Amino acid sequence: MTKPVFRFAPSPNGRLHLGHAYSALLNADFARKFGGRLLLRIEDIDLTRCRPDFEKAIYDDLAWLGLEWEKPVRRQSEHFDDYRAAAAKLKGRELLYPCFCSRRQIADAVTRKESETARPWPRDPDGAPFYPGTCKALEAGEAARRIAADEPHTWRIHMAAAQALAPEPLFFQRFDDAGHMETVEAHPSRWGDAVIVRKDVPTSYHLSVVVDDALQKVTHVVRGKDLEAATDLHVLLQALLGLPTPLYHHHDLVLDRTGDKLSKSLRSESLADLREQGWEASEVRRRLGFSPQPTPRT
Ligand code: GLU
Repeated sequence: MTKPVFRFAPSPNGRLHLGHAYSALLNADFARKFGGRLLLRIEDIDLTRCRPDFEKAIYDDLAWLGLEWEKPVRRQSEHFDDYRAAAAKLKGRELLYPCFCSRRQIADAVTRKESETARPWPRDPDGAPFYPGTCKALEAGEAARRIAADEPHTWRIHMAAAQALAPEPLFFQRFDDAGHMETVEAHPSRWGDAVIVRKDVPTSYHLSVVVDDALQKVTHVVRGKDLEAATDLHVLLQALLGLPTPLYHHHDLVLDRTGDKLSKSLRSESLADLREQGWEASEVRRRLGFSPQPTPRT
């Protein structure tokens, strides 16, 4: 029987905090319980925000926590061709269309729609307004001309066309702490015509995560509840690209003292800060509900 494959997939755009430690330790714990493998993946597609020193700090912090992972580590910035190929597959089936709109233009179009209809415009689970469809109506020749002229553009999923090919209901399986499975229905349409290829890089979080989980033969995805809704879109992309759907577990987020979720951008206390304040890795592990010492793999 092939071993289950787990992965921890941080982005090196800041220092890791207790929430990341929890996610990494939980992946390691599941991998140990299920006799599986643990991979580390560096999700560094954002070339302006990701930095080598943050990446190095990820390795240091995880090693400090007592974690071990397989090498070599996959760094997404080295695999843009894989994501280009996946995007080309979707484009070939006319499931993506180019969008030249700026954020401002989208916001203005949404304001107009809201005043015309006197109703709130639909929003995706992250709170962003659905794309109002401006560029969907572009003539193919016009879009090709603007692309040839190097006009910055994203590629959005044509949600209606995608759903005609992979009709809802789409299902996936999630597992709980004890490993019990439950079938869940995915509702990708709640993302609207989401961006699948960004303006600045030939991919997006959604596309790379789906391509990599398949390439790395990940069987179990363990990540925070903040990414639970994104799974609906991932399941759709897997169906469209003919990729397997892993099993999912979305864990509760670690909250700070005021009950807010920890965030790298808000400079939540990092693991490095805690270490400097004299915390031992064993205390961090215990505080997060894990055994203070790493349990050797059998
Ligand atoms: N890179 C993502 C993050 O740091 C996690 C991706 C995932 O686990 O699917 O939030």
